[in-house]
Amino acid sequence: MNGASSLLAPIAKRLAGKVALITGGASGIGESTARLFAEHGAKVIIADIQDELGFSVCQDKSINGDISYVHCDVTSESDVENAVNTAVSKHGKLDIMFNNAGHIGQIHENIVALEQKDYKRVFDVNVLGSFLGAKHAAKVMIPAKRGTILFTASSVTQSQGMASHTYTASKHAVVGLTKNLCVELGQYGIRVNCISPHSVVTPMLLKSIGIDKEKAEEIVSSAANLKGAVLEGGDLAEAALFLASEESKYVSGLNLVVDGGYSTTNIALPESIQKFFR
Ligand code: NAD
Repeated sequence: MNGASSLLAPIAKRLAGKVALITGGASGIGESTARLFAEHGAKVIIADIQDELGFSVCQDKSINGDISYVHCDVTSESDVENAVNTAVSKHGKLDIMFNNAGHIGQIHENIVALEQKDYKRVFDVNVLGSFLGAKHAAKVMIPAKRGTILFTASSVTQSQGMASHTYTASKHAVVGLTKNLCVELGQYGIRVNCISPHSVVTPMLLKSIGIDKEKAEEIVSSAANLKGAVLEGGDLAEAALFLASEESKYVSGLNLVVDGGYSTTNIALPESIQKFFR
């Protein structure tokens, strides 16, 4: 195929005929993923607590695909069960469950001052919410003997000291859940993976640090290992698309770290050496 004709070729729909439920899909990484999955032919259901935002994504005329919305607080088992049942009653099945909703809690946390209620809220959304999503998805995927369960963990599972103890511990739990579930569900043909994003300037990050988008991107970029690229929600959506599609048909139990190599580096010593000889 020459260059001109490849430009005219239609984009291959990598999720044609699939049904996907995305928690936390009204905003940020979840919203980007909902848009990309729909463009790739999936019937997408966004499950979130921000109803107005969720409905506005569904009504966006620029999206060439099928997206609908269901109210769902992932800390409520009946809400999660209802969201899964909505997907099945609307579209006949559930192929992809993306447990992405998250709560960052306090950005600066001091172990001595830690309040149990704050700890509980972060674990309820990030860990309990992930368990409930996996449980109710598995209920419909096991008899179907197929399916893909995804979670959003975080690069704090690779690089310690970047976020609060509570958030870090909760995201480690998500990685543990991913790996353990992949063992139980493999016999049913169900793959289980998670994605660990580095800092992405989404409403969650902006709210927690209280600065504007440009400043936040500048700070994140200045500390990045990989220069010349800024991590965006769409990049995580591409990672989710890979893990949800047939391209990854033998990938299970993976924590896909999307951090531009940040967690493989520690430049503190070379920087100290440079300062010493300056
Ligand atoms: P975001 O705030 O843009 O999106 C999070 C969504 O989750 C929101 O729409 C919110 O309404 C929803 N949500 C929160 N609590 C919920 C609940 N109880 N039930 C249902 N929905 C709920 O933030 P984001 O950055 O896109 O976050 C998505 C995921 O990515 C989270 O799990 C977060 O921990 C993770 N993550 C984010 C970053 C980052 O830098 N932004 C880095 C690593 C991991």
